[in-house]
Amino acid sequence: MIIILNDPIQTLVDTINDLYPDVNCEIQYNPDLNEKVSEIWMSEENGNLININPYIPFTAIVETIAHEFSHIVSKSKDNIHNGEWRETLNNINKKYQEKINSEFTKVEK
Ligand SMILES: [Zn+2]
Repeated sequence: MIIILNDPIQTLVDTINDLYPDVNCEIQYNPDLNEKVSEIWMSEENGNLININPYIPFTAIVETIAHEFSHIVSKSKDNIHNGEWRETLNNINKKYQEKINSEFTKVEK
């Protein structure tokens, strides 16, 4: 059996689910994005989908998901970073930092 001791992506997902339990969104790693870092598809009919380019650095994935999810909450297009988008991102970042600081474990063997 293999266990991931600390997964920042799962911590972010848990944070977002705590803050915005009524906003539905799926995330997929999409290798067909070419030069794009990410892309969001918002649809009331088909639901919201965040596409993440799997070739971006691991450390950028958390930031990218938080960024794109904030667009979904604020119903703003990717190049529009309005007040609601900024407030959502700030809420996510604040709670994420609190959660990661309280849950992070580093095991040394
Ligand atoms: Zn954006």
